Parts: sequence; C-alpha cells; structure tokens
Amino acid sequence: MSARTSHVFHRNARLQPPIAVKGDGCYIVDADGKRYLDGSGGAAVSCLGHSHPKVIEAIKRQLDAIPYGHTGAFSNEPMEKLATHLAQAAPGGLDKVYFVSGGSEAVEAALKMARQFYIEIGQPSRHKIIARRQSYHGNTLGALAVGGNAARRAQFQPMLMEATHIAPCFSYREKRVDETEEEYGRRAADELETAIQQAGPETVAAFICEPVVGATAGAVPPAPGYLKRIREICDRHGVLLIFDEVMCGMGRTGHMFACDEDGVAPDLMTVAKGLGAGYQPIGAVLVDTRIFEAIRDGSGFFQHGHTYMGHPAACAAGLAVQEVIRDDNLLENVNRQGAALRRALEARFGNNANVGDIRGRGLFMAIELVADRSTKETFDPARQLHAVIKREAMERGLIVYPMGGTIDGRHGDHVLVAPPFIVDQSHITELVEKLGDAVDAALAA
Ligand code: PLP
Repeated sequence: MSARTSHVFHRNARLQPPIAVKGDGCYIVDADGKRYLDGSGGAAVSCLGHSHPKVIEAIKRQLDAIPYGHTGAFSNEPMEKLATHLAQAAPGGLDKVYFVSGGSEAVEAALKMARQFYIEIGQPSRHKIIARRQSYHGNTLGALAVGGNAARRAQFQPMLMEATHIAPCFSYREKRVDETEEEYGRRAADELETAIQQAGPETVAAFICEPVVGATAGAVPPAPGYLKRIREICDRHGVLLIFDEVMCGMGRTGHMFACDEDGVAPDLMTVAKGLGAGYQPIGAVLVDTRIFEAIRDGSGFFQHGHTYMGHPAACAAGLAVQEVIRDDNLLENVNRQGAALRRALEARFGNNANVGDIRGRGLFMAIELVADRSTKETFDPARQLHAVIKREAMERGLIVYPMGGTIDGRHGDHVLVAPPFIVDQSHITELVEKLGDAVDAALAA
C-alpha cells in the first residue's frame, strides 16, 4: 500500500508507514515479515513489550464480563482496583484518581481541576498557569498552550489561552561553569518565584512541569534540589504543583513515579503511556485529598468528563500491567538494564565528536547531537538530522524516538531511547549497535 492508495490520514501525510501485524515481546513484525526491536516503546509507551499474555488475558476477561458502562451511572471493578493500586503507590496525599483516555486528556483535566479548586475555595482570581519552555504536555489546545515546544506552538498562535513560560531545568544547556549543580538548580527554580511575583500570586492557579523532561528535550532530569525548591515556592504562594509524568512516570525512570527519586510530591500528577503500556488507551490524574475534598464539599461536581473515562477494558489492562510490574519485580530490571544501557551508550557514543550529552534515568535515556562539542552548537534544523536517524534506524530494524532541536536553537536534535522494562542484555546490545550505525549513517549523509 502506498500513501496514495491508503485512505488513512497519516500524520506525516507524505509517508505510508509499514503495517505492523504482530507483536513479539520487545519486537514488532510488519506485513513483510521484517522485525523491529522497539527501542523506545513507541513514544515511551510499551513498557511490557507487545505480547504480554497476562495483560491480553485480562482485557479478554473484562470484555467477556462487560465491555462498557457509562461512568455517569456506573463504576466498574477494574477502575476501582486500579485507583486503589495507584493511590497506594503514589507519593504524598495523592489519594484519588480521575481516569481519562490519554496524556493530553489527563493534562486538560488537571488544569481544569486546579482552576475549579480555587473557585470552590472562593479564590476565582487564581486562573493563570505557569509552565516551562522545552516541555511537552500534549497536543490538545489547552495542553499545547502550557507546553513549551516553540515549534509545535508556532503555527497555532495566538493560543486559546495564554500561559507564562519559565526556563526549564536543563544542566547541559543552561548551567554556568561557575555554578555547582545545586546552585544551578536553585537559580532555575527561582525563576518560578519571579514569575509568580510578576503575575501576582493571587492570580496564579498552578505550575506544571515534567519532573524528567521527555519528548521535547530528551530525558532531561532535574538538578539536585530543584523540585524541592519548586515545591517550597509553590507552597509559599499557594500555587498548586502539577507534575506531568505522562512520559517519565509509571516506572520508566526506575521508580514508580519519577518524582519519588527527588522526594517531592505534587498536588496533581498526570500519568498515561506506561499506565496501559499501549494495550489500551488510558490516562489518569492523581489528585491530592485536599483538592478532592474542596470539590466534594463545595459544588460536589467536577465540571469535566469524557465518554470513555474509566473504560473497563482500559482499566483492566492498566491493572494487569501494574500487577505484572509488581509481581515480576520489573522496577529492579529497569534499574539494572538502565545502568547497562547507560554504560553501552557511553561506550558507543562517549568519544563521538557529535554527541554532546548522554543523559536520563532508568530506561529513559537520550543522546543529544551537536555540530560542535565544545561550543554545543546545534545542527542546522533544516538538515532534519533527527528524521534521518529515525529512517536509518527503521531500515536497520530499530525503533527509537528522535526529535528535532527547538527552533530557538536552545538544544540540539536528540534521540530518546526507552525500551520495554522486560529487556535483557542482548536487547541492549542490539539497540545500541543499531543506533550507533544509524547515527553514523545520518551524520555521514
Ligand atoms: N505529557 C507528556 C509529558 C507527554 O510526553 C505526552 C506525550 O508524549 C503528553 C502529555 C500527551 O499525551 P498523549 O499523546 O497521550 O495525549
């Protein structure tokens, strides 16, 4: 089938992607029988690979029992159980779970929940959202407005709503040589203090950030102490803290939630991707008790909702995924294989003059490509290096998740690798070998 004969409106309107017909552990097989190692779980989604029998069985069982019941009238068993599981695993006071069907929906719900919270407690002037540059929170218009990916936003200006953007916490790009990591983290966090003061604290509802930045900048962890200081600043000004863990959460970094490593709990947390591991579309907002109680004891009704929220088959998938991660001790494997992945990336790319940074946590790693390592100058965006790497990798039977640098030149093309939690050493070796060949070919092109 070609792009001309297909009736599907593919996102890349000029390309017909291969047709995936079978999942086999960490591999996807296409209609021609070609096998691809899934080195990024798609977009950091498929954390159990593509054929886990326990998850598939759980979905089938749920479909046999009841496939759908509108949440306006019914709850369902997998939704109740999954909420309990998440609330028990979550940090701080995140005790209630609001289910949706994906990451952008989770972000939209969290933003509206933050605003409604302030209405319920009699502070309706708090409606502004502060976010960060070089972030991604989804493609729906609200999520796009808080997102800080200049390229994605550019053609949709003016946004439906305006958000203020502060600098990300991005040591490789923004730390000065005369600063320690801690000093830099403090300086980056203090931008939030300034932004809140400038906006007027009584007008700010929430600050949203990805604890470890995913797609837009490539597995960028926060500097030590950064998130703690962010938490303090939010508390001082009564601003809600939203962590968007759609990509970095649900075990990807080696902790159940990325923020666990930093010992900081938000007021609202969005999760998706790894929650259903791609077996079903599902996302969720984990909500602090205080916010839930304000709505319950106030109007009693969250003014939001979607037809498929809490879908029984999606929740059954999510529950089975979480049970497999717990029962098979997969976080331990994420940490073990994450360390192996880091070592392999450092061995393969450490001396590459065009690889400026190798970073990440757990099985959430990236390399950033630069034209000049000493100046950190980026490649010309017109070269579309990330797209060439993706193509070269696919030709070699490897799926990775490369992304272009920001159009303001604040970081270079990067390649995100986020393989399934079930990988072993042979997958890591194959991944890094094929990625190395693909990067070499793209740089030579
Ligand atoms: N938030 C983050 C941090 C993401 O990485 C993504 C997707 O990549 C989203 C939100 C949007 O999720 P979805 O594509 O499921 O709408």
